[in-house]
Amino acid sequence: MDAERQVENMSQIVQCVSCDGYGWIDDEGKAVDCDWCGGIGYVYRNERGLDRRIPTADLPYVSEELEALEAQRLRQLGYTGEARKPWEQAIRRQRSNSNDS
Ligand SMILES: [Zn+2]
Repeated sequence: MDAERQVENMSQIVQCVSCDGYGWIDDEGKAVDCDWCGGIGYVYRNERGLDRRIPTADLPYVSEELEALEAQRLRQLGYTGEARKPWEQAIRRQRSNSNDS
């Protein structure tokens, strides 16, 4: 267990248990945004095992990790196309608001 110890105060990012990383759930044939993760497909999990939605403001900072997780998930599904997820929009918005170089 000791070797498993991670950086304290750092939550891990895990696949949303409610939508399995999809970001949406099937509601009687209709795709609706997952409430649990806010459509992101991933949530923070703290050291006590509690899941928490990733705030939109955090997306630019965790986007690389999310992309890596998403790529991994899609590979497991046998899907090789590109991921299109809400965080990409959030990043674009953030960049156009602040300094664009
Ligand atoms: Zn979800």
